Amino acid sequence: MGIVYKKYLHGEKILGCNACKTHFATHDHIISRQFHGQFGRAYLFSNVINVYTGEAEDRNMRTGLHTVQDIHCAECATVVGWKYLVAYEQTEQYKEGRFILERTLLHYVSSA
Ligand SMILES: [Zn+2]
Repeated sequence: MGIVYKKYLHGEKILGCNACKTHFATHDHIISRQFHGQFGRAYLFSNVINVYTGEAEDRNMRTGLHTVQDIHCAECATVVGWKYLVAYEQTEQYKEGRFILERTLLHYVSSA
């Protein structure tokens, strides 16, 4: 894994880790708010930083079979969502390479 260089985002609405406030993404990276995670509402993001991925595994979700990896906060290692690697249903393939973050695990960081 090596050393993780923590990056900082700039913008009006930054979403970060609820546990340690590490920056993950800005509002501009949200593709959809219509997702459901393990803990309720979840957002789909085009890009997320300061996270690392776990092992790839197949998961049967309400939209079909997907290969996903859990994503962990680079700072405190909390699992904050997952990344879609492969979607087997053609209608779901827009999610490939995208990230889900669980709303309840996010914190709105206000930038200076
Ligand atoms: Zn964290």
